[in-house]
Amino acid sequence: MDKRIGLFWLRDDFRVTKNDGLIEATKNHDQVVVFYLYKQATYQKQQAQKWWLSKSLLNFRKKLNNLNINLEIIETNSYKFFFDKLFKNKDFKIYWNKVYEPDYIKFDKYLFRNFKNKNIAFKIFKGNVLNEIDEIKKKDGTPFKVFTPFWRNAEKYYIEKIPSKKKMIKKCKKKINYFKNCIEPEKILPKKDWFKNFENIWFPDEESALKELQKFIQDRISGYSEGRNFPNIVGTSKLSPFIKFGQIHVETIWTECRRRKLKSIGISKYLAEIGWREFNHSLINHFPFMLENNYSKKFDKFPWEKNSKFLSAWKKGLTGYPIVDAGMRELYATGWMHNRVRMIVGSFLVKHLLINWKEGEKYFKNCLLDYSPASNVAGWQWVAGCGADAAPYFRIFNPILQGEKFDKEGEYVKKWVPELKDLPKKFIHKPWELNEKKFKLGRDYPYPIVEHKVARIKALNAFKKI
Ligand SMILES: Cc1cc2nc3c(=O)[nH]c(=O)nc-3n(C[C@H](O)[C@H](O)[C@H](O)COP(=O)(O)OP(=O)(O)OC[C@H]3O[C@@H](n4cnc5c(N)ncnc54)[C@H](O)[C@@H]3O)c2cc1C
Repeated sequence: MDKRIGLFWLRDDFRVTKNDGLIEATKNHDQVVVFYLYKQATYQKQQAQKWWLSKSLLNFRKKLNNLNINLEIIETNSYKFFFDKLFKNKDFKIYWNKVYEPDYIKFDKYLFRNFKNKNIAFKIFKGNVLNEIDEIKKKDGTPFKVFTPFWRNAEKYYIEKIPSKKKMIKKCKKKINYFKNCIEPEKILPKKDWFKNFENIWFPDEESALKELQKFIQDRISGYSEGRNFPNIVGTSKLSPFIKFGQIHVETIWTECRRRKLKSIGISKYLAEIGWREFNHSLINHFPFMLENNYSKKFDKFPWEKNSKFLSAWKKGLTGYPIVDAGMRELYATGWMHNRVRMIVGSFLVKHLLINWKEGEKYFKNCLLDYSPASNVAGWQWVAGCGADAAPYFRIFNPILQGEKFDKEGEYVKKWVPELKDLPKKFIHKPWELNEKKFKLGRDYPYPIVEHKVARIKALNAFKKI
């Protein structure tokens, strides 16, 4: 047994199952301390995730305490500053799992160099992906830019890999403290308390993630291909925030889905969505500029418009288009939005309102519990038409038809836009056509902020300019 203290740097891995770094630390050391570095500035623009993070830390701390492991939270402005101080100690060996974002990967290299030079023992493990980023490349060694061939290769590669052995976490001998001036998880909670509603919907811990996965496989996965399109039902797994924070590893999802030995299109479709997440991570690591800028350079000249009134109406769910407003209100109230509706509201912002996708990306980042730079940036660039393998810009979602197709009875709209709950089905996605005294547009619900047909032509003309 290694006499030193085992330190585990917790990032997006709030689990004990398939947490390779943490498991290895408990195997090698009698005394293990898990630490989380909280950067206030980062979370300033991710308010919803402050809630998930705070709860995750609280729940995970309880779990680790039962294993005689302390979870210590340290507030810092800079990882570099923190580690430069830590380098002075020599009484530990440190472990962590990778996070597949360019800044983290770059910082791993900095740590690698410094720990090596200073003779401090460390070990880095695979993070929450099926394949390492560099494992999936085209025959000529360049990265894939199109999803279908990417996933064909990635899936095959993963299936043919020798499965890693199942490793179990070990209870430590004695709980110890290592760091000074730690903070409590509650300190991370957002100041504004709109998140209270989240507490009725989500329980951010590993057990809930595993339970939700089992429920999804049991009840919904066989109908997933169809069910995933309809926002009025729960047709998807709703595991995204758990995956983001690593309460569940995607390998666990894969294994559990495949364990059933069912040949169902639902399962393949579901795993392909996990594949989109892998693809997005591959993209941002091979083309890191896309985190800030258009993947497709020709969009650098796109004539976006600045319109704070439109942007504010979109954020508040007051555009006058019921399906768009329902989505934006669902997002604010629950920290999550259905994928179909993410596409509809995204398309509305960039095509009907001609507002730069970066504004939408920023707002989603602040409101989504599942916010991840890879999937959010890639999702927005897909919608805007400027991403890799993106929806063409000229294909403009009609919010009325989208509503009528995917929320036929208007149940989703009625749930999130209660001022429309008494409208006859025929008018639920076009309330401006209703001529009734009881319901007055402009008083009970806003007029559409733009007219669909006019906005469509304007968007196509703008597109012609690039
Ligand atoms: C504009 C826009 C922004 C988005 N931002 C994010 C984001 O910040 N974080 C995020 O996790 N997803 C994002 N997505 C993708 C997708 O909407 C969510 O992953 C999905 O809605 C989560 O719900 P679920 O867990 O029920 O998904 P399920 O349908 O049950 O899918 C299972 C898992 O696969 C992954 N997944 C599913 N669809 C996609 C997709 N299109 N792209 C990448 N991964 C996917 C997620 O990890 C998801 O949890 C975005 C999509 C769009 C169009």
